[in-house]
Amino acid sequence: MSDRYAVIGNPIAHSKSPEIHAAFARQTGQALVYERLLAPLDGFVATVEAFRSAGGRGLNVTVPFKEEAFRYASRRSVRAESAGAVNTLRFDGDEVYGDNTDGVGLVRDLRANHGVTLEGAHILLLGAGGAVRGVVGALLEERPARLVIANRTPGRAEAIAAAFGAAPEACGFDALAGQRFDLIVNGTSASLSGELPALPEALYAKARVAYDMVYGAEPTAFMQRAAALGCPRCLDGLGMLVEQAAESFYVWRGVRPETAPVLAQLRASLRG
Ligand code: NDP
Repeated sequence: MSDRYAVIGNPIAHSKSPEIHAAFARQTGQALVYERLLAPLDGFVATVEAFRSAGGRGLNVTVPFKEEAFRYASRRSVRAESAGAVNTLRFDGDEVYGDNTDGVGLVRDLRANHGVTLEGAHILLLGAGGAVRGVVGALLEERPARLVIANRTPGRAEAIAAAFGAAPEACGFDALAGQRFDLIVNGTSASLSGELPALPEALYAKARVAYDMVYGAEPTAFMQRAAALGCPRCLDGLGMLVEQAAESFYVWRGVRPETAPVLAQLRASLRG
């Protein structure tokens, strides 16, 4: 019988994770099924427990439950501890292991898929939600020259920076005027509603790469803006999605799938 996995969230109908994990399972010959699990906003734990009772082996966790998943885990990886959020749960008997694969997903996409150099780079990270919290540790491990977290609500960026010690700086968007970054990573959800973080425009022309964690059939609002203002390379977050999924697959199955063919398949299906 196949082992059961799922992605849990609210909403969840749009999730590409079932398609990605089905492709990984076919490629590696692993016998598993992977579903979507819609949990009521006040019913995360009950939905997880029902899934476990029915034999579920692990879950991916998405908006808005990553912090609840952190609390639910009885043991956590170092990277989940530093992120304060969990996107991967593995059920080992009575123990619930929690991990966070978003950071490694972003770094692998940037470095391995796109050849972006992070060591010594000046990096600007926009936003201060769960996604940004999840990637700060992994970006710092790459030893950038500078990492600045900027958010519409500066206090939230400051809280994240403080949790990581002296290395990252934090500010609001206005304070970025006159600065220069090699890489701008948009970790806000603004693109989902076609909006843009209110950045000083000159930043885009000075950057070598603009990366949006959001993805879609067309370039996102952030990518279009960055390109129009002179940024030479604009990338979306589809590769991050596939890379974080591959790391979750490894956490569950101990096998590393190849991501390139799955990313190509997903890109093609997105373009329809
Ligand atoms: P949260 O809701 O936790 O955080 C949202 C952030 O976006 C906040 O910092 C908020 O600022 C900011 N924001 C929202 N609208 C605007 C706007 N119009 N202008 C400026 N800032 C804005 O979301 P998450 O951190 O969980 O996710 C962020 C994005 O990353 C999502 O779109 C998600 O889809 C994507 N993501 C992609 C992944 C991938 O694998 N590709 C993985 C994880 C996330 P404020 O604090 O001021 O409210």
